Amino acid sequence: MSCINQSVCKLCRRENVKLFLKGDRCFTDKCSFDRRPYPPGQHGQSRLKFSEFALQLREKQKTKRYYGVYEKQFRKYFQEADRRRGVTGTELLRLLETRLDNVVFTLGYATSRREARQLVKHNHFTVNGRKNNIPSFNLEKGDVVEVREASRAMNKILAGIESAKKREIPSWLEADHGAFKGTVKDQPSRDNITLAVEENMIVEYYSR
Ligand code: SF4
Repeated sequence: MSCINQSVCKLCRRENVKLFLKGDRCFTDKCSFDRRPYPPGQHGQSRLKFSEFALQLREKQKTKRYYGVYEKQFRKYFQEADRRRGVTGTELLRLLETRLDNVVFTLGYATSRREARQLVKHNHFTVNGRKNNIPSFNLEKGDVVEVREASRAMNKILAGIESAKKREIPSWLEADHGAFKGTVKDQPSRDNITLAVEENMIVEYYSR
């Protein structure tokens, strides 16, 4: 997303996981991670031993890059998660999952989180009937996200809907592509979050 200027495919290779940053390309045989599943750079293929700290750092970087947030913002999410009652790691992921840009992507109105962020910023969505152009806006149970009427014929949004047929919409969200809207049925549980991350390592990273 906006904080990522380097080739995004390198990020997947660096984090050793598909972060799905390039929309439909991620599902084709052009995916760089599928073709070269080792870290970029001269020593990418050497077997390296990672310290505990390095492993924690990688989990944090992976999660930050998956959701496309800045370091400062990510730390703020951690602090907010730490203040909450539940398990800090789960609360952190929950805060990231319920961001408006992530929900727009997950509902199928964009082909990637990066694109969803751009569409939100360009005022193509409403939340509960009101214009909302804040990608980091956290949605709550019962909130309704809708594509604005004037934006419904946009190629990017139609491509998102087409692309969503290849993905499963998690049970905490309900998409109605015919009406160009979606509803947050519940807060996401840990099981709903598909990113392969050990969030306890992120907690350990920030608790040093
Ligand atoms: Fe990652 Fe997608 Fe690039 Fe594959 S195509 S390396 S999943 S961003």
